[in-house]
Amino acid sequence: MATNHQFKLAARPVGMPKRSDWDYVEVPVPQPNDGEALVRVIYVSLDPAMRGWMNEGRSYIRPVELGAVMRAGVVGQVMESKAEAFATGDYVTGNLGVQEFATAAARHLVKIDRTSAALPTYLGTLGMPGITAYFGLLDVGEMEVGQTVVVSGAAGAVGSVVGQIAKIHGGRAVGIAGGPEKCRYLVEELGFDAAIDYKAGELSTRLREACPDRINVYFDNVGGEILNTCLMGLALHGRVVICGAVSQYNNTSAVAGPSNYLSLLVNRARMEGLVVFDYAERYAEAVQTMAQWIGEGRLKTREEIVEGIETFPDTLLRLFKGENTGKLVLKVADE
Ligand code: NAP
Repeated sequence: MATNHQFKLAARPVGMPKRSDWDYVEVPVPQPNDGEALVRVIYVSLDPAMRGWMNEGRSYIRPVELGAVMRAGVVGQVMESKAEAFATGDYVTGNLGVQEFATAAARHLVKIDRTSAALPTYLGTLGMPGITAYFGLLDVGEMEVGQTVVVSGAAGAVGSVVGQIAKIHGGRAVGIAGGPEKCRYLVEELGFDAAIDYKAGELSTRLREACPDRINVYFDNVGGEILNTCLMGLALHGRVVICGAVSQYNNTSAVAGPSNYLSLLVNRARMEGLVVFDYAERYAEAVQTMAQWIGEGRLKTREEIVEGIETFPDTLLRLFKGENTGKLVLKVADE
């Protein structure tokens, strides 16, 4: 009988997750019921949010249950279909988890066109991170032509798209990222106007130099001290998009809040949270627009692909060590 390898949540982590927080198990490949398809998983999306899904407590999505397959977005291929909308051989995305095979009801799968982009891109720029960047910047951030956009986590999956969309929309893009190589990538390869290495220190001075007209939109992926510093640079009526706080996800003490929040008052500015799932009905709009930009060479995509499902725990942690540039993807099978 064919086997399926899975990572199941075994414990709720304290601080940085460790391998023993998951069980790596072998089970039979499931059979699809009526209305379902059996999918062979090829690529698994690794997202900072997975750390939050391992915690107990109220959030924008229910936690992963202990003993359940670790939640993750994937790209895969239909092996057998008992759903009208799908045929054997179709490529699909869905939240099928960290495993090699999964069955899913047709409504949980989306067919993807492998001729318009490489399969892993559907987990990055044409997937959840890219869609987050698109609506976060244009809808929540209400970016306008000529405005200055600062984005943290700028060399990552979401941040790299935010800066490029800011440029496409006629703005000035300033990225904050860790290390000189990421900063070089942002300016020389993605066309950001400036990039600041937050690990090199003096962030507020570097920000003032890079944003002479102050910050109209700060797109926050990291929280903590970087958020606090960016608040001080806001322009009048500036917007702060709270997308994530990766610097805080493994805290064992309380999340560090921004002491500079009165800058919102002084600048008549606002700070607003974003959950990409709220845009589910408009995903196609973002994907079509960004696929066109990719085709025209205006939007560049990059995925960092690590092979082997068994490497999942260590590979996930790369996100929290800044070891990825672009979208971090786990490859579990050949295309
Ligand atoms: P990513 O940026 O590709 O990877 C995470 C990056 O965060 C790392 O490469 C690292 O880059 C940076 N980082 C890690 N620890 C840090 C620290 N202590 N201080 C500063 N930077 C740190 O991840 P992503 O998938 O694009 O996600 C980015 C953010 O968006 C996350 O906060 C995620 O939770 C959020 N998100 C939110 C939604 C939503 O609906 N709200 C949807 C998708 C993603 P450096 O080398 O630059 O440190």
